[in-house]
Amino acid sequence: MLGATGSVGVSTLDLLDHATRDGSAEVEVVALTAGRNVARLADQALKWKPQLAVIGDESLLPELRTRLNGSNIQAAAGPAAITEAAAMNADWVMAAIVGVAGLAPTLAAARTGAVIALANKESLVCVGPVLLARAQAAGGRVIPVDSEHSAIFQVLQQGPAGGRAKLILTASGGPFREWPIEAMADVTPEQAAAHPVWSMGVKISIDSATMMNKALEMIEAAYLFSTPAERIEVLIHPQSIIHSMVEYEDGSTLAQLGVPDMRTPIACAYAWPDRLTWPAPKLDLVSIGKLTFEAPDPARFPALDVARSALALGDGATTAFNASNEAAVAAFLDRRIGFLDIAAAVAETLERMDRAGELIAGADSDAVETAMMIDQSARRVTADVFSSVGQSH
Ligand code: NAD
Ligand code: MG
Repeated sequence: MLGATGSVGVSTLDLLDHATRDGSAEVEVVALTAGRNVARLADQALKWKPQLAVIGDESLLPELRTRLNGSNIQAAAGPAAITEAAAMNADWVMAAIVGVAGLAPTLAAARTGAVIALANKESLVCVGPVLLARAQAAGGRVIPVDSEHSAIFQVLQQGPAGGRAKLILTASGGPFREWPIEAMADVTPEQAAAHPVWSMGVKISIDSATMMNKALEMIEAAYLFSTPAERIEVLIHPQSIIHSMVEYEDGSTLAQLGVPDMRTPIACAYAWPDRLTWPAPKLDLVSIGKLTFEAPDPARFPALDVARSALALGDGATTAFNASNEAAVAAFLDRRIGFLDIAAAVAETLERMDRAGELIAGADSDAVETAMMIDQSARRVTADVFSSVGQSH
């Protein structure tokens, strides 16, 4: 479990707790990792008794040791130790670290041939083709956990591979779906972090508010399902009941529906090709009554168009897109830039890097090194862009 203490990590352990209690799954946890939340990591470890618990922040190792004192659980710390944990022998790995920090551990897990339940969308966005090829070469597979991709994955497993017209990603539209653009300029981090439907980590909540999350998901879908950007459409669906759809050339559209609860796509990734039995919240369509749909507004939510141009430029550009957005979200949370500056800064960063010829993706062998170089350079360029954005305020 990579990123055990986060929103997806906690949902995963909760699901496994249900499934083991009623005997529908037998689970032995091999390793748990976290970034900084040492108290929660230690509590989880004492409950699930893994061989190893790893904290990303090395200064927290003494505290982890103290908290695990008297147990047989080994404690370790630092990014390299997280990657080593990811490479341990396990049948199933939940990749739920947030951000580009998940790249090296997720790739290490893919090399073991384990089933990778992939929540860390950033690793797909940065090195998607390499990640998928490595998992396949090792005899493993990647099963998406992101609810939209889980929906499409489930639909595609049911029918013929051909005759696909397009993928339709649904989006809740976030908290500012109906806000006029003038009001969006003054959005605070607190307002942006409060998602109307899903309860999630802070970074992905901000990304949902800007629709950067959907933009990242479009890139994720392009790599996962080998589909060009022009065959991926985004549809606003505020109730988040239809998690995504596949439209076929013969006029059929197939969808996956469910209560917006991450434990359902996690259960799918855990048990596939079987179905896990657990007390899942079930859909009550009568009480929901109606499902509504609208087109996204490109003027208020430019993120989707920026993602389309990144995809057209290639892997190097999608890596830069992700890094620039991470830097912009951090600056927004620090109140250094405004809400609308996030997408503008990412677009400007891609343009500057493209002009400078800095978006060339690496060959397979050095994909991670090249991705990390592009990531670092995108963060520097984004910081430069902020200084010009700041002056215009
Ligand atoms: P979160 O912030 O709640 O949790 C992130 C986890 O990663 C925590 O365990 C944290 O300790 C760990 N972590 C953070 N920084 C780290 C670092 N530098 N090194 C090592 N570990 C670190 O995030 P989340 O909402 O659970 O999201 C996790 C991933 O899943 C993200 O990529 C997100 O986009 C994706 N995702 C989340 C949801 C959701 O509902 N929360 C839905 C779809 C996809
Ligand atoms: Mg999603």
